[in-house]
Amino acid sequence: MTNYDPNNIFAKIIRGEIPATKVYEDDQILAFNDISRAAPTHVLVIPKGQFINFADFISKANDKEIVDFFKKVSDIAKSLNLTESGYRLISNTGPNASQSVQHFHVHLIGGKKLGGLIPGDNNVR
Ligand code: AMP
Repeated sequence: MTNYDPNNIFAKIIRGEIPATKVYEDDQILAFNDISRAAPTHVLVIPKGQFINFADFISKANDKEIVDFFKKVSDIAKSLNLTESGYRLISNTGPNASQSVQHFHVHLIGGKKLGGLIPGDNNVR
């Protein structure tokens, strides 16, 4: 895995160098609207620490950071009224998943009936 690039776009959002529509922020975590939304609700949740992707986050963050992060994702989903209607969490990790920003993030997507699991998959599970 290559090194973390402190000039990736999400690092710039954390530092306030480029704007974002924030949904939640604390010392450790930031959530903001995806600039190119895939559904009525499409929020990106990121830790403020320097982690390249999910695998990097799990291997380098401490247990409390990991638990706090995923609990906060759930809280944010609740605050956006997604819990009853349902939502999807996606964390693209590496080339086969087409991860385009090299700072760990979870897509929180909802607000409509979502399609198949991946493009071309029409199975409703
Ligand atoms: P991924 O392909 O999983 O790495 O997702 C990166 C996401 O970041 C995409 O859904 C982009 O639309 C989103 N994105 C890129 N630049 C920005 C930005 N400046 N503000 C908000 N979202 C962004």
